[in-house]
Amino acid sequence: MINLENIRFWDITKKEFKRKDIEIEADISKFKDLNKHIDCQNFYGIPAGIDIHVHFRQPGYEHKEDIESGCKAALHGGTLAVLDMPNTNPITDSVETLLQKKRIASKQNYVKVLVAVALTGKNLSQIKVLDENCDAYKVFMAESFGNLSITSEDIESALNKLENYESIKPIIFHAEDPEILEQHKHRDNHYRQRPPEAEASGIQKVLQWAKDYSKLKFHITHLSSHLSLKILEISNIKNLTTDTCPRYLMLTKTSEMLECFKKVNPPLRDSLDSAKLLEALAKGQIEMLSSDHSPHTIQEKTDPQLCPSGMPGVQEIVLTALHLVAIHEIDWERAIEALNLFPSRLFNLEDDEWFSDSFIIVDPEKFTTISKEWVKSKSGWSPLEGKTLKGKIDYIIKNGELVARNL
Ligand SMILES: [Zn+2]
Repeated sequence: MINLENIRFWDITKKEFKRKDIEIEADISKFKDLNKHIDCQNFYGIPAGIDIHVHFRQPGYEHKEDIESGCKAALHGGTLAVLDMPNTNPITDSVETLLQKKRIASKQNYVKVLVAVALTGKNLSQIKVLDENCDAYKVFMAESFGNLSITSEDIESALNKLENYESIKPIIFHAEDPEILEQHKHRDNHYRQRPPEAEASGIQKVLQWAKDYSKLKFHITHLSSHLSLKILEISNIKNLTTDTCPRYLMLTKTSEMLECFKKVNPPLRDSLDSAKLLEALAKGQIEMLSSDHSPHTIQEKTDPQLCPSGMPGVQEIVLTALHLVAIHEIDWERAIEALNLFPSRLFNLEDDEWFSDSFIIVDPEKFTTISKEWVKSKSGWSPLEGKTLKGKIDYIIKNGELVARNL
């Protein structure tokens, strides 16, 4: 038994920290030099992260990441549950491929892996049985990595069916309007090819669907622009939630990085967009954070012919929130809502055993420098490399037992 003495522990109902002592289990042979009594005077105990948007690339692209390596990165980053996206190979769009992915995921015990299936237009006849087995749906309105786009007509057929089955599974939209992307595809760089107007128009379509199918749960992921916020601001739709990613808060299109390493969908935007997104996150207009962890290898990202879109982020998400708290951009309540409470509600994880007596111990006064050595993802790099963030995730506790420590 290890005694955590005098830790500030987050009280979910009172929404404040309270000092207390906590006993946890720890395998001393695994964690060397661990004191039986840890002075937690400067530590804070908060709920672990739930990252509702990751691409762990297995099956099919295991050279970029696999479920085990992705989960290890998540765990060390203070996240204990993830939602894995379907653009693997084979695509997760059938009961067979869904169960295959769940079997692979069950071989590791680091992180709870929820699985999203793609709505593709080809699997509409299977929706009932998919709904019984999946954790969420992913809708790629436009082409991205592993082309899975679906037409508006097929989306509407799927929504009709889901409403008939009284589905409670979140439907997660990558909102970029394919027609607008088509109009801009000849333009001379990635930012201009995927302008904010494409995202805004995609969002307008999702808003209409959310109104038309008011019993279904809609979620728009990775908001990237100020324009999108303006549209959402006036919408006031109850069955719709949103998230943004650390990359849109911490980076812009002029950040000092090689162009291909910055390439992502939707693209990085301007500093005004970052500022407005942060404001929206701080006041809860954007409810959640997700990482959209989309690893590619350094070799792929340095090959100008390939240059695939996407960047890692699952290990960085909780740390980024911690940094934003430490520099007073958001408060603890919002950080905990965005990382844990709201995702937990969206996926009905509130009473999940995985999270009982699970928490992370962080120190907002320490600093973490992101380097290649720090990165656990198989991709081997981080978009925040070279940055020093305020805050450190020290211990990760699952079901009352220490499962990871960052030295
Ligand atoms: Zn994604």
